[in-house]
Amino acid sequence: MDAAVAPAPETLIRLRHVSRTYQRGVDEIHALEDCSLEVPRGRFVAFMGPSGSGKSTLLNLVSGIDRPSAGEVSVAGQRLDELDEDELARWRARHVGLIFQFFNLVPVLSARENVALPLLLTKLSRAERARRAEIALRVVGLEPRADHSPRTLSGGEQQRVAIARALVTDPDLVVADEPTGDLDARNAELTLALLRQLTDEFGKTIVMVTHDPRALRFVDQTFHLDKGLLLEGEAARRAHEALELAAGGRSVWGRRS
Ligand code: ADP
Ligand code: MG
Repeated sequence: MDAAVAPAPETLIRLRHVSRTYQRGVDEIHALEDCSLEVPRGRFVAFMGPSGSGKSTLLNLVSGIDRPSAGEVSVAGQRLDELDEDELARWRARHVGLIFQFFNLVPVLSARENVALPLLLTKLSRAERARRAEIALRVVGLEPRADHSPRTLSGGEQQRVAIARALVTDPDLVVADEPTGDLDARNAELTLALLRQLTDEFGKTIVMVTHDPRALRFVDQTFHLDKGLLLEGEAARRAHEALELAAGGRSVWGRRS
């Protein structure tokens, strides 16, 4: 092998001809049609598109929350479409960290206890669980608030607790569905910057669903969806330019690809 040639980055996520159809009464809803894509490990990517375009459907397939009607979904070498519900739940607990729009914290637990929650599903000792929760809280800069209850924290702080909880198992993949959807402009930017930092400093692979044009400045690559289809070529370029205009400035198309 030529020593001057850097090895190709590992593909973490691979979708081949993936479709997801929902049945609503007698109607078939094609939430996602014949979608193929790849995401290398260590990237921060966004799925963007109008409401109802299939973004959440795609994210749920990538994170093993849902299974495709047709096609192949591979993550970190595992074929998710071949797992049954129980296997998928176990796989998800080990490999995926989830971040939601409304944070989904448990109100009666402290920030620290919320962060440690996913570790209850592991065989780790109590001391080790506490140690890992502490590290995750440090990463998001929330150690000083570790013993606060979620309702005494701001929206931005609550989302940082949720991000720490997503990181605490050291997952291969972090997925976020509209993580800035319930935040003001400043906290939205802080959240996007934190996610960017997780990729840059810790090599995390992050897949985010958003229709926030501000996200363009923070991600490595954007996949554009419309009516269940992944846009490619000229159509993708036009969708990207429209978002750049909405964001009020240029970003770099496919920053690292
Ligand atoms: P987005 O996240 O881009 O707003 P979704 O992936 O949630 O879009 O939805 C894509 C399409 O699939 C929409 O038409 C939506 O109504 C439909 N859909 C999503 N989930 C379900 C479901 N569980 N049952 C029936 N239809 C659904
Ligand atoms: Mg959605």
